[in-house]
Amino acid sequence: TAQLIDGRACARALREELAVDVAALRRDGVGIGLATLAVGQEYGAGAYERRLRRLAGELDVPYRHRALDGATTLPEVLAEVALLNADPAVSGILVLRPLPAHLDESVVFRAIDPTKDIESVHPENAGLLALGVPRFVPSTAASVFHLLDTWLDSVGEDRTDFYHRANIVVVGRSNNVGKPAISLGYARQATVQSVDEWADRTTGIGRHTRWADVLVVAAGKAGLIRAEHVSEGAVVIDVGINARTGPDGVVHMVGDVDFASVAPRVRAITPVPGGVGPVTDVWLLRTTVTAARLAAGQPAPSLLEVP
Ligand code: NAD
Repeated sequence: TAQLIDGRACARALREELAVDVAALRRDGVGIGLATLAVGQEYGAGAYERRLRRLAGELDVPYRHRALDGATTLPEVLAEVALLNADPAVSGILVLRPLPAHLDESVVFRAIDPTKDIESVHPENAGLLALGVPRFVPSTAASVFHLLDTWLDSVGEDRTDFYHRANIVVVGRSNNVGKPAISLGYARQATVQSVDEWADRTTGIGRHTRWADVLVVAAGKAGLIRAEHVSEGAVVIDVGINARTGPDGVVHMVGDVDFASVAPRVRAITPVPGGVGPVTDVWLLRTTVTAARLAAGQPAPSLLEVP
């Protein structure tokens, strides 16, 4: 049966490094601050905000959350973004998704100061990432590869050798998860395939996913990947977060991978919960430290973590 890739342990280790980085910022007199902005009330966004608030508190990083009413107009939202852009105490800005339907998220994203855009949603930052020279790396995709890198180290596999041979298949092609993950695969000189809903509707995704040495699944569909979709020896990273009501009436969080049938077949797999999610939270704070360093005109660590 598969090795379990433990996201919580990975997040703990990353958090310890981060605490050292934050202390170093203080010592160097560099200011740091994280700001989140939400419009309307969305369950997932609210939970994410509370986790970030707690983590920022534990790390002693000044944090502020602006919660706007769901009916807030686009000009009003843009005005709020402009306030955060202009505030020297804010080094990183995160606009929580999803935004209400009447707001065009691409317009909001374009309004964020690119030097504070820690999720790389502004076209300038998305472009830099696609070119392989990112300013910031979106947290979820970064976490996928951080988990993979950490797992490779733990089993004593050479990262460079592994990625150069690997066929990475990414299921889901969203701007915030799938596409950045594809870019990070390219940055590691891997062979990368992108599978989207249309492949699933026509031929089924199995003919693509079965070739994966690394299968990254970010579709938001519970149970999408089953045993017949994976090959033995695959490493499976499940990004999906779905709510499922069990026979007992209790709501559980499940991924996109049918863990019970897939885990016995593959080489390694991340669980949900306890996989990508915990690492993502810490990564966002880590990127905030990077933004603070860059704002102070100081060199920042290489964000690609390419071996
Ligand atoms: P999204 O809805 O924006 O994009 C989903 C993508 O998957 C789209 O490209 C869609 O075409 C594709 N897709 C949908 N059904 C498919 C199918 N049957 N076969 C192949 N592709 C299919 O979602 P997202 O923002 O990219 O997030 C994806 C999932 O990851 C969600 O469950 C989300 O909650 C979760 N997520 C987790 C984290 C984390 O930290 N763990 C962070 C962000 C998102």
